[in-house]
Amino acid sequence: MTATIAPQRTNLLGLSREEMEAFFLSIGEKKFRAAQVMKWIHHEGCDDFAAMTNLSKALRARLADVAEIRGPGVVYEGSSSDGTRKWVLEVEDGSYVETVLIPADNGKRRTLCVSSQVGCSLDCSFCSTGKQGFQRNLTAAEIIGQVWVAQRSVGPRKDTANRPVTNVVMMGMGEPLMNYDNVVPAMKLMLDDNGYGLSKRRVTLSTSGVVPMLDRLGDELDVSLAISLHAATDELRSELVPLNRKYNIRALLDACQRYLAKCADTRMITIEYTLIKDVNDQQEHAEQLAALLEELPCKINLIPFNPFPHSGYEKPSRNQTMRFQQWLYELGYTAPIRSTRGDDIDAACGQLVGRVKDRTRRHERYIRSIQIDAD
Ligand code: SAH
Ligand code: SF4
Repeated sequence: MTATIAPQRTNLLGLSREEMEAFFLSIGEKKFRAAQVMKWIHHEGCDDFAAMTNLSKALRARLADVAEIRGPGVVYEGSSSDGTRKWVLEVEDGSYVETVLIPADNGKRRTLCVSSQVGCSLDCSFCSTGKQGFQRNLTAAEIIGQVWVAQRSVGPRKDTANRPVTNVVMMGMGEPLMNYDNVVPAMKLMLDDNGYGLSKRRVTLSTSGVVPMLDRLGDELDVSLAISLHAATDELRSELVPLNRKYNIRALLDACQRYLAKCADTRMITIEYTLIKDVNDQQEHAEQLAALLEELPCKINLIPFNPFPHSGYEKPSRNQTMRFQQWLYELGYTAPIRSTRGDDIDAACGQLVGRVKDRTRRHERYIRSIQIDAD
């Protein structure tokens, strides 16, 4: 007896323009179909070939046979009183990832915080994603799928001046440079006119400093770069960001300079500095930081530590945070304090999933209990 295996359909959601063109050539179609289908998927949020009315009926039927447009499932969607929106998404193997849309500038800017991995292997001591360990890399479809879901639920892209998502930061769960092969095609889709058409200044990759991959990124893309520094000496940084033992501060800052040299235009790097009470929030730390960054065209973002159970760290007081900001100011740096948005829906980037899983399990139990009642 021979078993028949259903042919696997190609998920078109995560294909970059080159990959989409190759797909259409592989099924005997013209390359220009790629742009048409990409616009349906990414501009219109469409996941049904039958609705793609500028394709012939025969091609629509053919596509339905060999391809699919499959985004992540929405497990939870929440809005906060400050306008922040959050989605918990279920990806292939039943794992959850989070995506947060944060409005700013009177609604002119809507920044989506996107995850790149389920968990993270780098184990930074103050990060709850790191504490969960590493489960797996997200596929390109699962990464761009977060933008797709957010855009779909806010509304289709009417025109370039009125986009549901205006900026993307890769600051959700995971280390994007540890998932290079999926993150780069997804970012290309964010930039592509047939994708989300965002300018490279509005798409930011945040990294804790995977130096060789940073060099590779600079050869392929020149998106904005944020570096999670958090400390100005190797001794302290190695404690907070264990990856520093492999690529130390000097190696990381040199890689930043090489990245900037490859960018076509003049750029600044964003330095992320999570302020942790009595760990890196003293005057000497501000002085060391200012001296270290003297040569690097950069701006500093201060992020008060976001506490989570058993972290062993505390958030500095508002006064201490402002003192730190003032010390930097006196040393020549204007360093905005990045507030935690959407607190009422746990929307701070990079540390939600533990609570989300809990809540989702509670939600599942609730759903199950209703079903049992209904039986
Ligand atoms: N892995 C990447 C991107 C995800 S983390 C990176 O490390 O850059 C996004 C940002 O959130 C990083 O700057 C990270 O240091 C910060 N972060 C993680 N946990 C935090 C916490 N508990 N409080 C404040 N910031 C945190
Ligand atoms: Fe990973 Fe970034 Fe968290 Fe470090 S801060 S554990 S690199 S997600």
